[in-house]
Amino acid sequence: MSALTITKFTNAYEQNSYLISNDKESILIDAGVSIEEIKKVSPLPIVAVFITHFHFDHVVQINDYKGVKIYAHPRSKEIMSDAEKNASTQFNTVKTFSLDFIPVANGQQIDVLNSKITVMFSPGHTFDGVCYLIDNNLFSGDTLFKKAIGRYDLSTSNKQELTKSLQNILNMDYVNLYPGHGEASTNIEQQNLIPKWLRYLKIY
Ligand SMILES: [Zn+2]
Repeated sequence: MSALTITKFTNAYEQNSYLISNDKESILIDAGVSIEEIKKVSPLPIVAVFITHFHFDHVVQINDYKGVKIYAHPRSKEIMSDAEKNASTQFNTVKTFSLDFIPVANGQQIDVLNSKITVMFSPGHTFDGVCYLIDNNLFSGDTLFKKAIGRYDLSTSNKQELTKSLQNILNMDYVNLYPGHGEASTNIEQQNLIPKWLRYLKIY
């Protein structure tokens, strides 16, 4: 297993994108950061972008990555072209996206950075939610945060699916958790917190 470095970029919407690099190249989790910002800290080529879900704040800079392989849930197509579904209206703007991407499959493993990134579908916050696991690092998008869970009152949300997705994360083997907003967390911390969220979701 090669040593990977993970660099967090937080944008004006307080959304985290993560640059993951070995000594030769990088991949990006979510496209909330401009290529210009990345170049300030890393000269390595970006070979792929993995989208956790197609909400506006997570993909606001996606047009910077033309020519790079973009991976997303097959149902992202339905979200990107709809300003209500992609939540741009939540940010007082109306924005739609049209681009080609490579649809991922649940459980799929993709070779990157001399390692493998594993796709885990995690609907609930949106119907196109995906978590990505690489070398013990879980990128949870807006499914799970350090001390919160994703909103499930948005136009493509589903509370039952969010419950299942959190249950899946609880059973997953990882060490570090990198959410789409806020600070990083750990599996150890989340082993205590997720059962509380599952009880919360039964009531609320
Ligand atoms: Zn979101």
